[in-house]
Amino acid sequence: MSEMNREQSRALQTRAEGLFPGGVNSPVRGFRSVGGEPPFVARAEGAYLFDADGNRYIDYFGSWGPMILGHAFPAAVEAIELAARHSASFGASTAAEGDLAELVMACYPAIERMRFVSSGTEATMSAIRLARAATGRKLILKFEGCYHGHSDGLLVKAGSGVATLGIPGSAGVPEEIAQLTLALPYNDLAVVETAFAEHPDEIACIILEPVVGNAGCIAPADGYLQGLRRITAENGALLIVDEVMTGFRLALGGALELYGVDADLVTLGKIIGGGLPCGAFGGKRQFMELLAPLGPVYQAGTLSGNPLAMAAGLATVGYLQTNAISIYPRLDAVSKAVAEGVAAEAARAGVPITLNRVGSMWTWFFTGSPVENYDDAAKSDTAAFGRFHRAMLDAGVWLPPSQFEAMFLGTAHGSAEVEATLAAARGAFATL
Ligand SMILES: *Cc1c(COP(=O)(O)O)cnc(C)c1O
Repeated sequence: MSEMNREQSRALQTRAEGLFPGGVNSPVRGFRSVGGEPPFVARAEGAYLFDADGNRYIDYFGSWGPMILGHAFPAAVEAIELAARHSASFGASTAAEGDLAELVMACYPAIERMRFVSSGTEATMSAIRLARAATGRKLILKFEGCYHGHSDGLLVKAGSGVATLGIPGSAGVPEEIAQLTLALPYNDLAVVETAFAEHPDEIACIILEPVVGNAGCIAPADGYLQGLRRITAENGALLIVDEVMTGFRLALGGALELYGVDADLVTLGKIIGGGLPCGAFGGKRQFMELLAPLGPVYQAGTLSGNPLAMAAGLATVGYLQTNAISIYPRLDAVSKAVAEGVAAEAARAGVPITLNRVGSMWTWFFTGSPVENYDDAAKSDTAAFGRFHRAMLDAGVWLPPSQFEAMFLGTAHGSAEVEATLAAARGAFATL
């Protein structure tokens, strides 16, 4: 396999290292855990990224989730251009916020009231503040390997970015704050029951990824989400389902629709902004109306509901809603073909791999044993994954640069991309 020329990217990386810590503005963009050099992106179209040297790659991370319709989706580009001509921001209310909210609520019956923010981090942070205010309790319960953004209390055992770098939590988070977060293994209801028994009337909420993406893809066991719903209801705690990654991806109504479960609060991000900075949180009216200016819980944002983000979100979610009947089954079928096809190539080459897939999210774990929680995922051979990642990149397939991430497929991927990916994988496994 010939090495790609990445001279321009190398020069840009050298410059970046003198400007940004580690040369990046978000740690997961670095290639530290897989080795090799991160290409710098010049542009993207459909399923393809083009780097600064003109190399082309099939994109399997889709900006970490948002680009479900492929890059530079014409309706989204047009909507953003039009909105920009009317000014990028007002700091006053616009009709577009209501339009997108109505669309979101049509997809999510659990959301009776909502608020837009500018990132997933803000959405989860605000939802937790709300849960604490609603219950008058301090503790929050999360699961090992689940990532909910980088706010202080949520970095305990927080999966991908943190796990990839081998940092247990984060420096700079005071112990007093970290102690308010209980982190338990995913997919085990008994440990949750025990935690509530040990901390009666102290746990404000459970927050979780309904399908984990940030420890690699891990599906909830049968009845797990329903069990958490029951336990929170019995104990007067709120259930916060973090759909920043899964919302509008697994189904129009995300994991709540796919698994038929209800939540007190839901957090959204990524797809909801169609690639622009946007997040949202929402849920039961009784909780949401605790927010200022109606109630005592303060939460705000200069760029919240930004008109460009609303335009991109409306174009993206609107298209998904109109075409849901064809889009979701097709995403599932194409994802199945590539995910299972590559797993079959691994088997043929004698490389042990466990494939976890839910719809258009999946991970090839480089381990022979099942992966049902973070500890299982951590058994993966990350060095082998790194070699696989480098070989795939050189063959024009850009996977997320960590074993503990999910691949994301979009509507622009089709049989040509599947075939090219399988051929690349065949070559990559032969070199492992
Ligand atoms: C990406 C992600 C977040 C954080 O969103 P940002 O927009 O990066 O702040 C929160 N929760 C989940 C499940 C995510 O995947």
